[in-house]
Amino acid sequence: MLKPPSGPIGAYGYMIKANKEIYLDVNATTPVLPQAAHAAFDAMEDLFGNPSSVHTSGLRARYLLESTRDLARSVLGAGEGEIVFTSGATEAIQMAILSTLCDFRKRKQQCDIAGKACKLLYGATEHKAVPKALEHWNEVLDAGCEILEIPVDSRGALDLEFLKEHAPHAAMVCTMAVNNETGVIHDLRAIENVLRSVNEHCKWLVDSVQAVGKMKLDLATTTIDYASASGHKIYAPKGIGLLYVRKGASVVPLMAGGGQEHGARGGTENLPGVAAIAAVLKMLDISPNAEFASHDSLENFRDRIVQSLTEAFPTIVFNTPFETSVATTINFAVRGFSSKELLDLFDAAGIRVSSGSACGSGAVASYVLDAMGIEKWRSEGAIRMSFGPMNTEKEIEMACDRIRQVGRALCDSCLMVSNDPVTQTGGRVDGLVQLKKGSMCTWLLMDSESSQCVIIDPFEELSERVETLVRCQGSRVIAILDSHNHVDHESCRSMQLKVLGQYIQPRANSGDLLGWPHEPDGSVTLANGESAECINLFNGLVLAAVKLPGHTVISNAYLVGKPVDGKLDAANILFAFCGDTVLMGGIGRTDFESSSVEGMFDSLHRLSNIISSDATVICPTHDYNNEFATTLGCEVKTNEFLASILDPVVPMRREDFVAAKPGVDQGIQDESNSELVCGLIKDPDAVSTGTSVDIPPDGLKEFFASHNDSLIIDVREPHEFSFAGDWHKMGLDQPPRNIPLTRLTGCLPELIAISKSGRQIVFLCRSGRRSGRAASVARRVGLSNIWHIAGGIAIGSSRQEPEYADPGYVI
Ligand code: PLP
Repeated sequence: MLKPPSGPIGAYGYMIKANKEIYLDVNATTPVLPQAAHAAFDAMEDLFGNPSSVHTSGLRARYLLESTRDLARSVLGAGEGEIVFTSGATEAIQMAILSTLCDFRKRKQQCDIAGKACKLLYGATEHKAVPKALEHWNEVLDAGCEILEIPVDSRGALDLEFLKEHAPHAAMVCTMAVNNETGVIHDLRAIENVLRSVNEHCKWLVDSVQAVGKMKLDLATTTIDYASASGHKIYAPKGIGLLYVRKGASVVPLMAGGGQEHGARGGTENLPGVAAIAAVLKMLDISPNAEFASHDSLENFRDRIVQSLTEAFPTIVFNTPFETSVATTINFAVRGFSSKELLDLFDAAGIRVSSGSACGSGAVASYVLDAMGIEKWRSEGAIRMSFGPMNTEKEIEMACDRIRQVGRALCDSCLMVSNDPVTQTGGRVDGLVQLKKGSMCTWLLMDSESSQCVIIDPFEELSERVETLVRCQGSRVIAILDSHNHVDHESCRSMQLKVLGQYIQPRANSGDLLGWPHEPDGSVTLANGESAECINLFNGLVLAAVKLPGHTVISNAYLVGKPVDGKLDAANILFAFCGDTVLMGGIGRTDFESSSVEGMFDSLHRLSNIISSDATVICPTHDYNNEFATTLGCEVKTNEFLASILDPVVPMRREDFVAAKPGVDQGIQDESNSELVCGLIKDPDAVSTGTSVDIPPDGLKEFFASHNDSLIIDVREPHEFSFAGDWHKMGLDQPPRNIPLTRLTGCLPELIAISKSGRQIVFLCRSGRRSGRAASVARRVGLSNIWHIAGGIAIGSSRQEPEYADPGYVI
């Protein structure tokens, strides 16, 4: 039978620690308080009656419903206002807006002063539920109102002058009490003074979701007409919320039915949800409450977290203006890191945080921070940590320790320079590292033994990361090379040479236009008989340069391979860095002034005679669709145009290529709207690369029983992997091999060989996204026997019996 967790409230803190998870994402949702879970359970077991029934079961249910309404009134200071229970805040917001617009349609002339259109105003940092609902109901009801965003200043405060100017013609103003991303507290009294000085009748909705339980609201002492709240933000379950309605304000039911909620909302009430929220409201109604951390404690928690963050990340910038925000929200960004990188790392360390707003999808900038005019990198890299009054001192202490460990892991991975150089203990970085920003790729060949490093296609936005890596590894940079003179961006080669000063080997400073040294180490003979200059790398490898005009006239391919007796055969070339000559899904465009169409035709043929079509991994300058790298064989298979150029039987004629290429380039131009695309002719969806076979997280044991020599690869970055003991939970008794996605391309030659031997390769990561990506990259370049674990370790681990479970608590 379902049983709620037993034990005192403190047991909740225990749950978090025993499971080694620190939940700092309370603004997204809170865990359910044991008292609330108990109350919901009791309501299901004992108070299952329908509140509309007139028998004893119904009366008992009704009593719970109405007494909870009174409790909510008391906590919100609602006076004679009404409380309507809803499924959550989003519904409450709809109800307030629908009611206002229905009302407005009846009395349109009241608002339409001096022939001006009626306005609906909302704060620029509102939760999306507000503007979306305004748009939706304005359209559905054909209300014809003008919807206007009230700007905010750099501290997130509403522009009251704007409000003053537009409020006289407003049917509704929507503002929030506390912002969910930044924690900024809105000055409701100041808003009220301005609003009511110019418009007494306009309806005012205050989204109070993030304020309830954190501050006194005293709604009845204000002229707020509607206020929304949500159970799952205050330790009750999801599916219960409420709308406060000021006495006299109208309510139009969103759902018509049996007249429940005093006619405001049809449908049998969610009694377990009501019982759960009652348990929380009861605790909030007693002040001070011993179960909840006091305001002073919360401020102290914030100070400690801020201190640990500052120690962990020397380049941190806080987006939350602390003096005007609740103590429980900390929004920040760390220079040089995307929010995805930080979120993955915190998650690996067992700290649950969110990037910007948890409700948004994709790695986009935060509209809240954008509205505050905060720099793009801070908005795109924003992380939100939020905690609540149920967090204990011990948890915060543990969180701070863990945050410091996260900082150390970044230093150990050479992604960050430590505050204290003595503790900078960078792990060894070897092989090919692929750094990406948007579509741009910068490649580093690194060898810790000889300390050698070659940088190919340096890109300004990645330069900080390259510099940190080189410094941390104490590398000797033997060359910084451009594959071509870029049309779409400036190379930052000379800047990087200057910044990396002491790490640059003298020869690297004196190269040609692309950085190729005037005095190479020698030359090798390539498969087509050509001789190519080369510089010596580590482990018997050389880096040879071949001229490859086309995309731009000055273009090189850099080939990395092991020559035998001075010959660098195709099969021995591991990597070809050929800029924008061959890319995933296309060949480089040749419609620039500095391009050569004929040159491109000749270069493609030359390249195909020099490198191996399936063993040489092509590393381009651009990766538009997150495909990492390719091979010539893979491109020929998926790109008809390239296939006919290189057709071994009837190859395309040079003049036909010259005639056809402008049309192909024209197509590229049409597809690109924001970015200058340097070469892409295929819609990635049109290229069938096959899919990897998924293993369900709980099917791993079974899988290994039949494939016990499989190679298991965890593709998380080393700093995440350093925290990851979680592969035990997948039934693995040994750690998997760590090949981070940033080094996957470098390992492709090895994986190609493993795959050819018939061994199974299984990729895994935290969520299944990166392992899915790795699997599709591997499949794309022709590997077979590729698997990945759907849903990742996160799902696998959560399916385990929870370590924190109270005996008898069965989910
Ligand atoms: N308003 C704010 C400020 C919120 O933070 C949220 C939830 O993230 C909502 C509204 C929506 O609440 P619910 O999930 O209860 O619909």
